[in-house]
Amino acid sequence: MTLFFKTISRKSLFSVGSQSANFTWKMPSPVKFSTSVVASSGSGTKPIFSPHDALQTDSLLTEEEVTIRDVARDYARNELMPRILMANRNEVFDREIFREMGKLGFLGCTVGYNVEPTSSVTYGLLAREIEYVDSAYRSAFSVQSSLVMYPINEFGSDEIKKKYLDKLRSGELVGCFGLTEPNHGSDPGGMESRALLDGDSYILNGTKTWITNSPIADVIIVWAKDVSGGDIKGFVMEKGFKGLSCPKIQGKFSLRASDTGMIVMEDVRVPKSHVLNVKGLKGPFSCLTQARFGISWGVLGAAEFCFSQALEYTQNRKQFGRPLAQTQIIQKKLADMVTEINLGLIACNHVGRLKDQGKLTPEMISILKRNSCTKALDVARNARDMLGANGVSDEYHIIRHSCNIEAVNTYEGTSDIHALIIGRAVTGLAAF
Ligand SMILES: Cc1cc2nc3c(=O)[nH]c(=O)nc-3n(C[C@H](O)[C@H](O)[C@H](O)COP(=O)(O)OP(=O)(O)OC[C@H]3O[C@@H](n4cnc5c(N)ncnc54)[C@H](O)[C@@H]3O)c2cc1C
Repeated sequence: MTLFFKTISRKSLFSVGSQSANFTWKMPSPVKFSTSVVASSGSGTKPIFSPHDALQTDSLLTEEEVTIRDVARDYARNELMPRILMANRNEVFDREIFREMGKLGFLGCTVGYNVEPTSSVTYGLLAREIEYVDSAYRSAFSVQSSLVMYPINEFGSDEIKKKYLDKLRSGELVGCFGLTEPNHGSDPGGMESRALLDGDSYILNGTKTWITNSPIADVIIVWAKDVSGGDIKGFVMEKGFKGLSCPKIQGKFSLRASDTGMIVMEDVRVPKSHVLNVKGLKGPFSCLTQARFGISWGVLGAAEFCFSQALEYTQNRKQFGRPLAQTQIIQKKLADMVTEINLGLIACNHVGRLKDQGKLTPEMISILKRNSCTKALDVARNARDMLGANGVSDEYHIIRHSCNIEAVNTYEGTSDIHALIIGRAVTGLAAF
């Protein structure tokens, strides 16, 4: 938060809450932009341990990746951080964020349509920097990039690629991805949404729920069973199609700065040219593989924030005549955090490289998504505890991250469902 705290005064940050006047604790100045890992000593150089890059994952990045990462860090901490407290409190998402991310070239950065794609690690780094601020903003970035732009580029007709991709990249259009239904979450194969071929178009009926961005989406991708063939197919719809509505789900206590809603389809007519050229669950699952990769990185960004906050807080907060950070239990918690975050980041980086070499398997993604989410949830819950009463105040941001990660742990395959995917691959026996 280095830049963030240079430009945003503590007063403006804290002037929103009832406890504002009573704060005595200094806000943290956690992660530096570049971490010094080597110091000069008399006879040469020796490596220095940094809690913010404990295993020197930065050394695994290309120069270009570092540059893009720093742009994202600057944007997230300068532009997103000042908005998140009130956005989360009031449950609002600022659509302008899409245009901002579009201008910076973040959206669909690995989708090479009319542009040079970035590496998968770059995509992961963007997710990490954005989620350092909030999982809701990262969710917006992920859905647009992996669940909307990716399938259109991969499976769309030339007509719809031309119609949507550039505008989705610039953030002019917002997309969403509807797979989950009221009666089918973990088992999307049982979906009840139906598509009936009628001349040059399909007629769609059904309901999707818990759909990120659906209330504000212009481009709506829905997966439904084709009644004639029985196969699951992807359909690209537009806001305004007759019979289509996307009501907002109110009252979430997680990802409050993200608009989540339903997709209700009542005899919605979709032209054949808007059908994605892929059959069965392979279609949605290939998109989810992309998105889950980003989540694996992103949620560790949220954990990094919580760790930095807890570290700084416990260094400053004294109880029983000594800093909390000078007690064994707190140090063990910090040691666990720094270990899990950095091991997790190394794993994400490694799998990212395999992905770009064409060596990725979906089980690897299940290992990453499950590991990153459960470890990040643990980090956030512990960090919340380490801040005592202040840990439940949104002005310290940890309770927000902690609530967010609950949803991130659930969506795109719960932790247990990913355990079953890994278990099936290990034993050869499907338990679900
Ligand atoms: C904020 C938010 C945003 C979302 N965004 C989207 C989106 O953009 N698009 C979209 O399509 N969906 C989205 N989802 C939906 C999400 O993917 C589903 O909630 C998730 O897949 C789980 O489905 P479910 O909620 O129906 O839970 P269920 O499938 O009912 O599972 C409930 C519990 O049972 C467990 N369980 C299920 N089956 C088994 C089994 N065989 N063995 C053991 N345990 C089992 C699960 O692990 C879980 O703990 C979103 C969800 C949230 C919360």
